[in-house]
Amino acid sequence: MIRPVPYVANMAAYPLAQIEVSPGKTLVSLSQNESLRPPSPMATKAAADAALATHLYPDPDCIALREGLAAHHRLNLDTILCGAGSLDLIGCIARSYAGPDDAILAPAHAYPFFRTAAQMAQARFDTCKEKDATVDVDALLNAVRADTRIVFVANPGNPTGTRIPNAEVRRLRAALHADILLVVDEAYGEFADHLDAPTFGMIAQGNTVVLRTFSKAYGLAGFRVGWGAFPPAILQQVRKVMNPNAMSAPAQAAAHAALLDHSYMRETCTQTAQLRDTAISRLRDAGFDVLQSHTNFLLIPFKGKAQALAADAALKAEGVVLRAQSGAGLPQALRMTVGKPDHMKHAVDHLIRWKQEHPT
Ligand SMILES: *Cc1c(COP(=O)(O)O)cnc(C)c1O
Repeated sequence: MIRPVPYVANMAAYPLAQIEVSPGKTLVSLSQNESLRPPSPMATKAAADAALATHLYPDPDCIALREGLAAHHRLNLDTILCGAGSLDLIGCIARSYAGPDDAILAPAHAYPFFRTAAQMAQARFDTCKEKDATVDVDALLNAVRADTRIVFVANPGNPTGTRIPNAEVRRLRAALHADILLVVDEAYGEFADHLDAPTFGMIAQGNTVVLRTFSKAYGLAGFRVGWGAFPPAILQQVRKVMNPNAMSAPAQAAAHAALLDHSYMRETCTQTAQLRDTAISRLRDAGFDVLQSHTNFLLIPFKGKAQALAADAALKAEGVVLRAQSGAGLPQALRMTVGKPDHMKHAVDHLIRWKQEHPT
């Protein structure tokens, strides 16, 4: 028999959303944190133009896109690394900086892919408590062990939607041992940028990476473009383990054009925040204990796992697909991505009806 290596055999498959609905129902998918609207028309045009020359390999250095990012975020070109989504970068960072004798640490309700990345690196995955589904810097510091090599923090968090001030991220960095790599995953940074000074300056200390993506606020999830601000010495190591041609030419062109159409992205964030906050206040009025979110989704807590799964099934029967959160240690909660206005109204109406039919 052909056998995989034991650590791969022992891994669970990454749980993606189950998107199938009863026959006759229109699908309302609010399960994947994709943007509520398509990307900027400038991005789709640039991708179509780039497709005309796809008999050629893409630029492995992503020069045009990286120059755009450097100018936009006032970063040096040699600090920017692009990947096929930030998932790609997370996996490559874990494999480059942790191994079988090491540990990777993240908060209890962190993005589940951090655990997968640790498994791919054969490293132990440690977690620590959060406070009200929010990252607790002191708990992270207490959970550091002699073999901790990387700390992953998503800020704002997924699936929690909560965030800590960037001053707390800086306090974490200052208190962590200098030879521990801190990875700050800001996949939802654009939705919270107005709240705080950016963290990109932290990379100058040589031991912190800040990740961003074009999948959320820029609406390019289908193209797979993530990037990070890295200390150059770390960037060079991570790049060695990456697929050198992972980002297609149309994807690079689309991301660059989307970046230049900044006002389109800001408008997406504004529309998202309005729809999100309307949904939160309607759900709170109906008795749901929803936390404030700083992202393009909201986390809806139920009395327990059984209620969350029952509500999930009832909504699926109506065509509305949310996302259960057992993988992130929140089995009593469902995550709802902010979608189009009619989809949001439909989903929130059904949730409120479910609550009325299932009091206590
Ligand atoms: C969506 C998400 C990612 C993955 O983004 P891609 O760039 O599409 O790979 C990474 N981190 C967090 C916290 C996310 O929510």
